[in-house]
Amino acid sequence: MLIAQAKDGTYIDAGIRTTKNDLFCPCCQSPVILKAGPQKIAHFAHSHGTACHAFSEGESKEHLAGKRLLQQFVPTAQLEVYLPELEQRPDLLANQLALEFQCSPLSFSRFFDRTTGYLNNGYQPVWLFGKNLQPRKNWTVFQKACCQFTASLGFYSYALDVNQAKLYRYQSIKWAYQTGYTWQIYAKKPTHQWQFEKNVQAARGNKMSYATWIQGQLMQCNPLFQKLQQAVYPSGMTLFSLPEWCYQPSLYGFLFTHQVLVFRAYYCESSSFSKWIEACLATLKSWHWPYFDAQKIFFELYQECRWLSSQATK
Ligand SMILES: [Zn+2]
Repeated sequence: MLIAQAKDGTYIDAGIRTTKNDLFCPCCQSPVILKAGPQKIAHFAHSHGTACHAFSEGESKEHLAGKRLLQQFVPTAQLEVYLPELEQRPDLLANQLALEFQCSPLSFSRFFDRTTGYLNNGYQPVWLFGKNLQPRKNWTVFQKACCQFTASLGFYSYALDVNQAKLYRYQSIKWAYQTGYTWQIYAKKPTHQWQFEKNVQAARGNKMSYATWIQGQLMQCNPLFQKLQQAVYPSGMTLFSLPEWCYQPSLYGFLFTHQVLVFRAYYCESSSFSKWIEACLATLKSWHWPYFDAQKIFFELYQECRWLSSQATK
């Protein structure tokens, strides 16, 4: 931790020299000591290995340095403010903006609860990937769940590179069978503007049609596709013989990848939006996207089906 509390209640920053010595953890009130060695930047640690909920011991060098770096990007932000109503302590807080710099894997349910906790209390959480959590080729469930959406940026999320002192924004993140995952990277140093850095395309180079490729996966008994096929089997459909428009890229391919085919197959069979969305939601075990409302996303997906199928019949 970078901020400790003195006996008189004032907050002490580990980076600023102080003459006060009795210092405490702002969350659990146990004594802490200043550590300022050559390995990590100056920080506080619990003097006895206490079971503190807010600060795990052995906070990494990257995490400590990242919080300092984020301060330069958001100078108005406060470090490690404890929010008692949420029992949470974002790394940085600037008004309602809660920044979380995530360097090591976090259980998905904890991530989901923390994010919905912020959102339900009027905070705007932003997750930033540390070095080990940055997307390489595919996006994991966690990485996708950290993404937000605006019309101008598309799906987007952030990462922080402590060594290069750079903030990254991944934007226009998409997935389609034809291209795999694609996205753009913008980067920024403190006090600089965002600059385009590169386009990322996980080269798929698949010349086979989507339908033929799926048929191949089913013939090879790929369990993922067998499961998807089972979802449409009761309606007498096969995933490789849907109307042609079903194989076109979807804006929501990034969230659902191949499962979009199942939703589109249901669209071909369904009589109403309410029946369709009920069938679609039944195929999802749980909702993985704290920033998005399921009804809204499926409404958009439905509109997309209407648009694509109407174009096809012209
Ligand atoms: Zn503590």
